[in-house]
Amino acid sequence: MFKWKKNKEIYYDTTSPEFDKIRLIYIFITIGSIVLYIMSFIHLQRGEKDLFFFEFLVSTGGLLSLLYMRTTGKVHVAENFILIGLYILFVMIIIDGGLEKTGIYWIFVFPFVSFFLKGNKIGLLWNMLILGTIGLLVYLSHEKIVSIAYTPIEIRQFLGAYMIVMLLAYIFENALLKSYDKLSKLAMTDSLTGLYNRYYLFKRLEEEIKRAKRYNHPLCLIIFDIDNFKQINDKYGHDVGDAVLSMVARVVKRNIRETDIAGRFGGEEFVIVCPETDIQNGYIVAEKIRKTISQINFGDFNVTVSIGLACFNDETAEQLLKKADIALYRAKNSGKNKVEIYDKKNCPQREQMKTTHQEQQAV
Ligand code: GH3
Ligand code: MG
Ligand code: MG
Repeated sequence: MFKWKKNKEIYYDTTSPEFDKIRLIYIFITIGSIVLYIMSFIHLQRGEKDLFFFEFLVSTGGLLSLLYMRTTGKVHVAENFILIGLYILFVMIIIDGGLEKTGIYWIFVFPFVSFFLKGNKIGLLWNMLILGTIGLLVYLSHEKIVSIAYTPIEIRQFLGAYMIVMLLAYIFENALLKSYDKLSKLAMTDSLTGLYNRYYLFKRLEEEIKRAKRYNHPLCLIIFDIDNFKQINDKYGHDVGDAVLSMVARVVKRNIRETDIAGRFGGEEFVIVCPETDIQNGYIVAEKIRKTISQINFGDFNVTVSIGLACFNDETAEQLLKKADIALYRAKNSGKNKVEIYDKKNCPQREQMKTTHQEQQAV
């Protein structure tokens, strides 16, 4: 059930490179299977039963691997199916030659497909396998053990061209992966502070809420806003304001766990998601951040923050943010530079959590 859901997420997250891969696998296997089915029936009519069985099996296997990918969310079976299918096809081409010995051109699609599906390292291994197999076939034909359609010169020319294409495909794939990494990092971070941005933080909050719900683990949300920030901007200028924001972000990074997720939510508003953290520990983190910021010396001024804290109690991400925001406003309206907790007495207690978790494990 969980896997199916995860699978659906991959299907609908159109920005993920995994999505492109799945789309390519669909196109490849569907078209390949249809062509093979047609060919298998042509061969059946001609009475070539061996070919019919082979093609029928391969195309049915292809469709089954698609079904497996669809229901389990695992793509590797379909990926390997494509690569093994192409590998067998190319070995047959080297031996048989294809239509007027032009079959060999089809092998040039292999570097691109293999690098795209398997990434650079495993893709390279697949290419070595193809090259090794071709080398072996040439050797065996030389020893008159098998006969292949191509002459040694034709194979040599082909291998030279293949190496160049493979190298280009490798470089291309590398550049693509790197720029994807860069882009996705840019898309999720706030450039001024280096913290996550609102969009990514919200997405992560939703994920952490799902996890907390499923395993019945605690989770806290901290939201804070710099006090009287407009005055700082007005008095010292926007650049100083920006430097304050960066400094505050640095304090946040230094005072949270690696598993906590911190982001700039708006102008001078920050949010920290603390998984596996109950309200008592959430309060300790919030207080530590509040105190540390208030002690920084910015020359002739100091900065304070007001903090709202809320514990996860089976609500949605929006509702949890709303709760923490209400607590933040309480902190602002009651004098600023303080931490306020939203409805502390209704937060799940540690002992209670443990028992429920143990009960769950016992089931
Ligand atoms: P309060 O204590 O009630 O939060 O008052 P405040 O002055 O902090 O709040 P207000 O919402 O009135 O002002 C927030 C200011 O934050 C206004 C805006 O110019 C400034 N701001 C928003 N984003 C940035 C930014 O990226 N850099 C700088 N320097 N200032 C920003
Ligand atoms: Mg403010
Ligand atoms: Mg504000």
